[in-house]
Amino acid sequence: MKKKAARSVKLLYDGEPVMDGAGVKITRMIGTRELNYIDPFLLLDQFKSENSDDYMAGFPNHPHRGFETVTYMIHGLSRHQDSMGYSGLLTQGSAQWMTAGKGVVHSEMPEPDQGLLWGYQLWVNLPAKLKMTEPRYQDIPSDNIPEFRQGGELVRIIAGEYSSLKGAAETLTDVLYFDVHLEANYNFTYDLENGKNGFIYVYRGSLNMDSKNVKKGILALLGSEGPIDLKSGPKGANFLFIAGAPLNEPIVRGGPFVMNTRGEIMQAFADFQ
Ligand code: FE
Repeated sequence: MKKKAARSVKLLYDGEPVMDGAGVKITRMIGTRELNYIDPFLLLDQFKSENSDDYMAGFPNHPHRGFETVTYMIHGLSRHQDSMGYSGLLTQGSAQWMTAGKGVVHSEMPEPDQGLLWGYQLWVNLPAKLKMTEPRYQDIPSDNIPEFRQGGELVRIIAGEYSSLKGAAETLTDVLYFDVHLEANYNFTYDLENGKNGFIYVYRGSLNMDSKNVKKGILALLGSEGPIDLKSGPKGANFLFIAGAPLNEPIVRGGPFVMNTRGEIMQAFADFQ
């Protein structure tokens, strides 16, 4: 049988430095002029710094509507508090899958560990029929994230399914979120369904995919067909592998709100006031 052509890499992107919240320095990988979205993913931010001036101001009270935020901490802590009284502390290796739905108002305040803060926030869009769903928080301690280990690979399954292991988060849409750690020169394959959009973000080491070298700090935007087939570099690779079924709906952004129409954005601002 003929081997299926492996998934292509359509773009390599190093992101854009931006300031957000009350003056937090971040690198935006999705949600920029060059890479506006990867349907259904609206935004990906990396916050990584050893300088507390870069992040201590944090993200004081702000609203969200129409999508989900997924926060994943590689190092350091993030304390979150909701205007309705819900609060929690995200520690190293933990994740929070927050469904903003019809609306939350919350704060997210980073707390470094030995000076270093390092994490990611992803925005996952919701389809029109779920944009006004009830808000929900899933705080997932590191120990509750299933890990698949075999040979030179470790896959932390935050969402989706890997090798019959189900991810920690319950999701409203068809998405996967893996944190993959590979030893040096290790082959990694995954049979991602045709039609799903996705990307790989390398945060340690490097890898080779579609005859392209993907270095640390680079996002590789994937094509829409074929299985994932990549090989880590001589120092191994750690990367986020995130994919999902596209919603194919209009996207209208209004700051912290993402809806389908201008009118819905106006309504979101009015409701927040
Ligand atoms: Fe937020």
